[in-house]
This record gives sequence, C-alpha cells and structure tokens, in this order.
Amino acid sequence: MHLVVGLGMSGIGAVRALQEAGQNWCAVEAQGTPGGWSQSRNVSGYRLDYGPHIMLDFDDALRRWMAVEADLTFRQHGSKSVFFCDVAGRPFPVPLPLGDNIADLPSVPLPDFPLNGAPTYLSYLVDSFGPEVAARFLIPYDQKRLCVDLDALPPKWNHRVLPAGKAKVGESSYLYPVDVGVGALSQYLLSGLNPNRLRYHKRLVRLSLDKKKAWFSDGSVARFASLISSLPLPEFLNLIEEQPFDPAETKAALPYARSDLTYLAVRAPWAQEYDFARFASRQVPFHRLTVLSAYADNCCPPDETLLMLETNSSPEAQDRVMADPRKAMDQLIDLGMFDHNTELRFSHKTQVEHSAIFMNAKTPDFLTRVKDRLAASDIHLIGKFGRWEDMLMGRALKSGISAVGLQDPDGPATRGRR
Ligand SMILES: Cc1cc2nc3c(=O)[nH]c(=O)nc-3n(C[C@H](O)[C@H](O)[C@H](O)COP(=O)(O)OP(=O)(O)OC[C@H]3O[C@@H](n4cnc5c(N)ncnc54)[C@H](O)[C@@H]3O)c2cc1C
Repeated sequence: MHLVVGLGMSGIGAVRALQEAGQNWCAVEAQGTPGGWSQSRNVSGYRLDYGPHIMLDFDDALRRWMAVEADLTFRQHGSKSVFFCDVAGRPFPVPLPLGDNIADLPSVPLPDFPLNGAPTYLSYLVDSFGPEVAARFLIPYDQKRLCVDLDALPPKWNHRVLPAGKAKVGESSYLYPVDVGVGALSQYLLSGLNPNRLRYHKRLVRLSLDKKKAWFSDGSVARFASLISSLPLPEFLNLIEEQPFDPAETKAALPYARSDLTYLAVRAPWAQEYDFARFASRQVPFHRLTVLSAYADNCCPPDETLLMLETNSSPEAQDRVMADPRKAMDQLIDLGMFDHNTELRFSHKTQVEHSAIFMNAKTPDFLTRVKDRLAASDIHLIGKFGRWEDMLMGRALKSGISAVGLQDPDGPATRGRR
C-alpha cells in the first residue's frame, strides 16, 4: 500500500496520480477537510481563505489534468499591486512597475551594500532591480517577510526568485473559482476517488524507517510499500523512531518564518485602485494586505470589504507581532484607505506555522542527506517541504503528481484525464 500523508495540494496531486496509475493507496489527513493551506473556512458568515490563495502557477496542461471545470468555473483576474515605501517618514504607495514609478519620489541617501564578497540574495536584489528599487522596496520588504538577514541567503534560494532581466514583482494575473472559495478546488479534485481511502482527523504520530511502519493518532498502525509526505519537514523528521538526524542540525538547516493572519471586514466599498499592497515601510507592522472581496465572490456581504493582513515572525521571536484588529483598522485609516467613521464589522485572527521557508548555506546538503536516507525506506517528500522552497499551489499539485510518475515537477502535467 502506498501511504500519502497530508492532503494539501501536493498530497491531492499524489493520490490522484496513484489512482490513475491503478495503484493501491490510502491517504491520511490530520484535519477534517482536504486542502491544507488552500482551504476556505466559514467564520460568522464570512468565507476566509487560509491565506490569500489566488490560483498561481496553473498552466493549461495542469488545468486539463485537473478535469474539474465541468463543475467549477475559474475567472482570470488581472490585479493591481502597490508597494508602500517611506517618504519623509510616512508610508507612501507606489504602483508597479516600481522602476518606472519612483522617478517622482524625493531621492534618499542609499545605504552602502557589502557587495564585494560572494553573491547573496541581497546582492542579487541590488543587481537585478538596481540599488534604488532594492533599497527602498525589496530589501526592507523581504526583511519583514522572511525575518532573516538577506545577506545570509544564497542568491537564488527559490524557484520563484526570477533570473535577472526577467525580474518583476507582484501578481499580474491569476485564477480564482467563481462563486465559491478556493477550498472548493480540493473538494472537486478528490470527488471521483473512493472515500474509504481518504481518512480525515487522522494524524501520523510515529514512523519507523527500518520497519516501514506508521502509527496514527487513532491508535492504528500501517505498513507501507512507499510513503509520500507533505508534512512540514522539521515536524516529519521529529516523528521518526530511529532519529537519524540531530534535532539541532535540523533546526539550523531548515529555517522558516511563521505568519499571523488578520482578517477585517469593513462596511465600506473598496475605493483604491489596487487590490494587493506590500509594505516595505517600517511604519507598518504587516508586510502584505490583500483585498479578498476584490476577487472572491460572496465572501462577505455586498456592502462590505473583506481584507487580510499578513505579519511574519521568526519561530524564535518571543512576542508574535499579531496585529490587533482595532489598531490595524486605525492603521488602514491612517494610510488613507478608509474614512475615520468607517465601521469595522468583523475581525478574525489565525496563525500559520512554516508559512515562509527559505534556504541557508546548510540547507541543500542537509536536504540531500535527508532525501537519500528517506528514499532508502521508500519515503518521498512532496510540496514545498519536499523541495524546501516557497512554491505556489499549482506547483505543489504538480510535485505530488511527479512523485508518483517520476516526472519533472517543472514540466507540464502530461497524464490523461480521469
Ligand atoms: C499565508 C500563505 C499565503 C499563500 N498564498 C498563496 C497564494 O495566494 N497563491 C498560491 O498559489 N499559493 C499561496 N501560498 C502557497 C500555497 O499555500 C502552498 O504552495 C500549497 O498550498 C502547499 O501545499 P502542500 O500540499 O505542500 O502543503 P499543505 O497545504 O501544508 O498540506 C500539508 C497537509 O498535511 C497535513 N498534516 C500536517 N501534519 C500532519 C500529520 N502529522 N498527519 C497527517 N496530516 C498532517 C496538514 O493538515 C495539511 O493538510 C500561500 C501560503 C501561505 C502560507
């Protein structure tokens, strides 16, 4: 039996590919519904995605493979993004492309960048975008988002870090399901499969590499021919009975940041030209604002605007910078997004561990050793934790498919329809 652990996008890709290949499989998911991060939850009548979760990285081949469009319609959205930087100590919005739109800003003295050593992510940003765009926008933004010293990161630590010359930022176009939340996508992707093979509220709690045996939260035990996991890698390694890796080494080699998400619904139409904002400004605690009601139909009453704010911190941080909803609202008023008397109708907060993952110098070698050791027991890692990179939904789905078919995750999903 092939055991899939975790039914986020990547686990869903794996179980569908196993089904197509006629294999004997079973999947366990800790939560009561599939989708992992890519799910929608109803809270007090508001439909909240577990992050912005616009559909990025879904090419035509992947859409054909998904075969859900008889039931689910996707709308293509073009988005407008702004970056807030500090001008005279105040946050100021600059539309994309940044390079074309900073000419009118008053010039500021640029810091000296230590660019003479080995290339790093910081030198990559300066070389790709120019010192002014890097210093005013991208470096302070990524410091807030990643919560690490950018000079310690390798230049291209991620598939999403674009080659110089093609470098751009922001979501120019994306898909989103019409009338429903993004969570509907996972439900439809699993709808043709045997429900008895999909076990919810069942958590992997222990694993033996030598015995190829898994223990679960309901007390059951299973032997597996192969195991495909999308669990956060530090947590997964912690479950292994043989403890092949030193926990201190794991912690040092697998760095990540975590997110606090704050949702606000206000009784006012959204009157700004943009629907995504990033905050390089040090005056604002959150790093990204998304206007969910700009693309998610029926997520809130028609006379309201539903917003989501993201604030990241490192796991070591003692105090999580969780935006207080009332203070966050005051901040949005201060930024000129709403009038002083705008009514806050709803707020909700949640947290996401391992939300932003990144590589340091130790990561690639450690990952190779981990993957080799696990592969010897027919255990395969999928999703962003498998490649230890900040991948998007479409690519996560492909990584599950490719783990079964041994295809290149960056290539098209070439299997036939269900
Ligand atoms: C805040 C945020 C915003 C994002 N916004 C976007 C966006 O707008 N567009 C986009 O394309 N991508 C976005 N992403 C990225 C996207 O969410 C991921 O690429 C994708 O969802 C990852 O899927 P996955 O299957 O690898 O992991 P996950 O979705 O994390 O799936 C892992 C699954 O394993 C389960 N699990 C964990 N432990 C156990 C256990 N012990 N036993 C059994 N099951 C377990 C979890 O419950 C979960 O369902 C965002 C991510 C974050 C964090």
